[in-house]
Amino acid sequence: MGIGPGDPGLLAPRAKEALARAEVVFGYRTYLGLVGDLLAGKEVVPSGMREEVARARAAVARATNGARVAVLSGGDPGVYGMAAPVLEVAAAAGVPVTVVPGVTAATAAAALLGAPLGHDFAVVSLSDLLTPWPVIVKRLEAAVAADFVLVLYNPSSTKRKERWLEAVAILRAGRPAATPVGIVWDAGRSGERKVLCDLATVTAHPVDMRATVIVGNSHTYVANGVMITPRGYNW
Ligand code: SAH
Repeated sequence: MGIGPGDPGLLAPRAKEALARAEVVFGYRTYLGLVGDLLAGKEVVPSGMREEVARARAAVARATNGARVAVLSGGDPGVYGMAAPVLEVAAAAGVPVTVVPGVTAATAAAALLGAPLGHDFAVVSLSDLLTPWPVIVKRLEAAVAADFVLVLYNPSSTKRKERWLEAVAILRAGRPAATPVGIVWDAGRSGERKVLCDLATVTAHPVDMRATVIVGNSHTYVANGVMITPRGYNW
């Protein structure tokens, strides 16, 4: 199940119900912390960030033994989240699973910036932990060439700062320097912060794993302090 970006108001009622029914809750520590109020009386199994497959296996094993199990993802579980690993393991074990959606970082961040996703957009994760970097570069180049608005998840981490600069170079090669860029850190969490800038100045704002970056297409503009990608009525 997805818990949304962090704000309790963005936790869907169905996710709340699923959590209320669960006997055992698996999740990354940060996500367990965000829904701490809803975990009273439940068995809670915390795990680290890179332990997704082990977490999926352990959760399915508990379900096989008859427990009602919830596995938490930040945002939406189907977007770079736990739904795929859990479904893969559960398929092999023949365990039934319900996927409960959540507000993903792309739409949570977009809402804070204005309406940057008003037309076609592409989502690319810049993390090369599970995807070879050349594949990421190819997808970025294709999305830039096709004039998609771009949503970048996992934009940078301390271990791969140069990847972020490489990605920015690809964006600058394909789009004008004045293309609007919005960055949101910690949407819906304490410390929420946002910046509107452009491709020329984007590297002045240090991004990390808590940020989502939205890069406009050739029609995106900033007015009244918000980022707008028109629906296309005037094309
Ligand atoms: N399943 C999650 C995404 C997991 S990938 C979802 O649907 O939102 C992790 C990346 O998501 C982070 O590196 C960041 O780019 C983005 N992200 C997740 N939560 C965020 C938040 N509250 N604010 C800004 N970005 C967030």
